Amino acid sequence: MTGSTKYIFVTGGVTSSLGKGIISASLAKLLQARGFTVTIQKLDPYINVDPGTLNPYEHGECFVTEDGAETDLDLGHYERFLDVPTSKANNVTTGRIYQNVISKERRGEYLGKTVQVIPHITDEIKAHIQALGRKGIYDFVITEVGGTVGDIESLPYVEAMRQLKWAKGKDCLTIHLTLLPYLGTTGELKTKPTQHSVKELLSLGVQPDVLVCRTEHPMQKGMKEKIALFCNVDPVAVIESRDAETIYDVPLMMQEEKLDEVVLRKLGINSFPDADLTHWKDFLRRYKEPKSEVHIGLVGKYVELKDAYKSIKEALEHAGAANETRLHIKWVHSEKLNAKNVAKQLAGLSGILVAPGFGNRGIEGKVEAIRYARENKVPFLGICLGMQCAVIEFGRNVLGYADANSTEMNADTTHPVIAMMEEQKTIADKGGTMRLGAYPCKISEGSLARSIYGRKDITERHRHRYEFNNAYLDAYKQAGMNATGINPQGKLVEIVELKEHPWFVGVQFHPEYRSTVARPHPLFIGFVQAALNAAVPKVAKAEA
Ligand code: GLN
Repeated sequence: MTGSTKYIFVTGGVTSSLGKGIISASLAKLLQARGFTVTIQKLDPYINVDPGTLNPYEHGECFVTEDGAETDLDLGHYERFLDVPTSKANNVTTGRIYQNVISKERRGEYLGKTVQVIPHITDEIKAHIQALGRKGIYDFVITEVGGTVGDIESLPYVEAMRQLKWAKGKDCLTIHLTLLPYLGTTGELKTKPTQHSVKELLSLGVQPDVLVCRTEHPMQKGMKEKIALFCNVDPVAVIESRDAETIYDVPLMMQEEKLDEVVLRKLGINSFPDADLTHWKDFLRRYKEPKSEVHIGLVGKYVELKDAYKSIKEALEHAGAANETRLHIKWVHSEKLNAKNVAKQLAGLSGILVAPGFGNRGIEGKVEAIRYARENKVPFLGICLGMQCAVIEFGRNVLGYADANSTEMNADTTHPVIAMMEEQKTIADKGGTMRLGAYPCKISEGSLARSIYGRKDITERHRHRYEFNNAYLDAYKQAGMNATGINPQGKLVEIVELKEHPWFVGVQFHPEYRSTVARPHPLFIGFVQAALNAAVPKVAKAEA
């Protein structure tokens, strides 16, 4: 597209959790399918400098970018939908904005001025929003404003948006996402909360251009016109967004509602190519019309909160579609697993994935799950802490190191088979200080990993402080656990495999961050395929 970058803002009203991230990603997908270049960024109103230090119970998974930023999980959706990597620049929090402004103040950059929310904080927000646009590679920058309009903490963001809209005129557009609640007693959808939410936005000086209305039921006749009349928008710009069977349906539903066309025309773009969604539709077909079924166990300590393992769940779904199989995930609470109940808990599962994590809680259950997978030859994928637990389990039960552990869990173990990385030992700050982002890895010839990736050199994203203790490399190798992937610079072990097992892979990195609809991750594809081929261990079917 010729001409200047267009800025699209996505705000939310009425309640939180309406799915701004999915709507943003779906719109981006539709624009991308028409041949435009698009990126999406998320503005988060909380004071944490990034979500890296947040407990998953607070905010779900922390998504890690190629360049090592710890970010909001919505960036995962952006990447999975668009198949384009995001970066540090795609996520900013109030904490980061203030940190930047305060550092500038300390450096004397404000030349003696009183530093204030307007203009200094809003200028910093505007600079951040436009940084992606200035790269000159994107036709569209979609900015998702976190939180709900009316929240105290999101006020500076809405104000920055108002100023940008004023300055850029036709190059800016606002989409407001609201909820149409359904009253069961009268069988009606109600528009009043939407009207009030738009009023709230108007009181902050922002007229939305497009309204996307989340609803459980089809909108009644005349409802779009009514909302349009009360909210000063075109009836065609009132978009119905029904609850979807899967998030991957949303782009097609938004296409049917012509969201992308309305947005393009409102931004003054009246001629544009048709959308090519062949690949997307093909993925959906394989996803929705599976030829088989497979039961996988996901062992972790946050299983009551599925968002904590968002990227893993999606990567498994992608791999399910790639194998044309319906994937059932059994969420297994690692804290509740022990030597006594493990066989019953994991019975009937044809693949076991042990999740990443930090700290001691649930660790022994993970070790038991791995012992079960190893002894029963059930396909196993261990990710980060999951791989470290596989090393601990092997140390204890095969090599006979009774107290083998990670020094993260037991600093005094006589067998520190997982230990803190050398460069981590002097670091005191917790935020942004782990080994983060993409690092290279060399895979050994003849290994399972090599056949899965189909090449020797790979890179994958990381987020950890501890590593396989290389003092134990030989002992492990002799007993049948091989380090088949090594980081060429630091000699860190990145992949371990078991010789006497059909499919047992532990990875120090996080392959889940790289899996997209367009390119499901080979490790997940291989894992699901192995699960499909595996004979399910005796004890009948998996518990639901
Ligand atoms: N806690 C482990 C470490 O810091 C594993 C981290 C993870 O699973 N992401 O090394």
